[in-house]
Amino acid sequence: MKVLVINCGSSSLKYQLIDMENEEVLAKGLCERIGIDGKLKHEATGKDKYLVNITLNDHNDAIKAVLDALLDSEHGVIRDMNEIDAVGHRVAHGGDHFDKSALITPNVKEYITKYIELAPLHNPANLTGIEVCEKLMPGVPMVAVFDTAFHQTMPEKAYLYAIPYKYYEKYKVRKYGFHGTSHMYVSQECAKLMNTPIENLKLITCHLGNGGSVTAVQNGVSIDTSMGFTPLDGIAMGTRSGSIDAAAVLYLMKKENLTTDEMDTILNKESGVYGLSGVSSDFRDIEDAEIEGNKRAEVALETFAYRVAKTVGEYVATMNGVDAIVFTAGLGENSGPTRQIICSYLGYLGIELNSYRNSVRGKAVEITTKQSKTKVFVIPTNEELVIARDTRNIVSGVE
Ligand code: ADP
Repeated sequence: MKVLVINCGSSSLKYQLIDMENEEVLAKGLCERIGIDGKLKHEATGKDKYLVNITLNDHNDAIKAVLDALLDSEHGVIRDMNEIDAVGHRVAHGGDHFDKSALITPNVKEYITKYIELAPLHNPANLTGIEVCEKLMPGVPMVAVFDTAFHQTMPEKAYLYAIPYKYYEKYKVRKYGFHGTSHMYVSQECAKLMNTPIENLKLITCHLGNGGSVTAVQNGVSIDTSMGFTPLDGIAMGTRSGSIDAAAVLYLMKKENLTTDEMDTILNKESGVYGLSGVSSDFRDIEDAEIEGNKRAEVALETFAYRVAKTVGEYVATMNGVDAIVFTAGLGENSGPTRQIICSYLGYLGIELNSYRNSVRGKAVEITTKQSKTKVFVIPTNEELVIARDTRNIVSGVE
């Protein structure tokens, strides 16, 4: 079975075509600048990279371009569209309705539409991706894989905010958590590396990319996570503030006479390490600036690492211990220095990093010494593979 995985953002679209016989990625790529001008990067396993500047007015154009690239005589990997057996879509918000992936039906689409209110930037793009695929690939079964689903196991005490209960009842204002597919994948991989059933483990997974979140995974399920009602909450991120006293937000709005949209932009797009450093939202640029002596870059990186370490500490407390900590995503997988600073706060867990292993990139590895009381791993995430597996299982009736 060949599964096409689609991850639709507002102006970008990532895709992979995976052969589920051996879980081999046949091709992958990215459409960028959808609605602006358009760019397609396509890479088929064992073939040259294929870069095209192509007009992408909307997601319809983008998905057509993806299918054309997959079918291309030189750069493609299939000869006929019928070779695509199923499509798996990443969907940001499944509210409290979806605790696992679902076969896409009109009813499922209604829920995704309903939750646009909760994820106004992501769910509309996800829905568009689904609808365009339905149009271009009629009859091909499709599955929605939700970023929130893995966190539906959180207990009430973790997901409720201490605000009047009626707002939870009326508007479902609560913590949902995101990056669920990634936290689930790396926690399961970690259990395999530890050769221990996940049901016997207390794990803390740190997904540190442009967006970032930390999750407490106890006995294989998420019991708490740092992102909240939206992906703004928790640790500081590339451009997002993470947790902040709500009263500080109100104060700034009054002082600067800001509308809610303006404040939203400040918190989501102008804050985080970008806002603190004034350099960039990309940690590589900030690390370079720090080396050149930029003080604000140093403060931004320190604040970031401090907050990740503090969140790890919270989850050690809530689980009453931890067996292993996992780093994943762009920064978590690639930045040894960041992992090292975070772990320097965790000496009370008996963590001892092996500096050689901490410099390894791009593969799953334990980065602590043999003596380390708590293990630390770097595990590359693979959300696309989880989406493809769920899609295969649901379409073939295994789940
Ligand atoms: P997202 O999927 O949230 O866009 P990624 O998981 O791809 O993010 O992570 C992207 C981020 O990872 C970049 O913004 C960059 O800051 C960081 N990153 C990637 N490689 C490195 C590296 N070698 N050193 C430091 N940071 C890195």
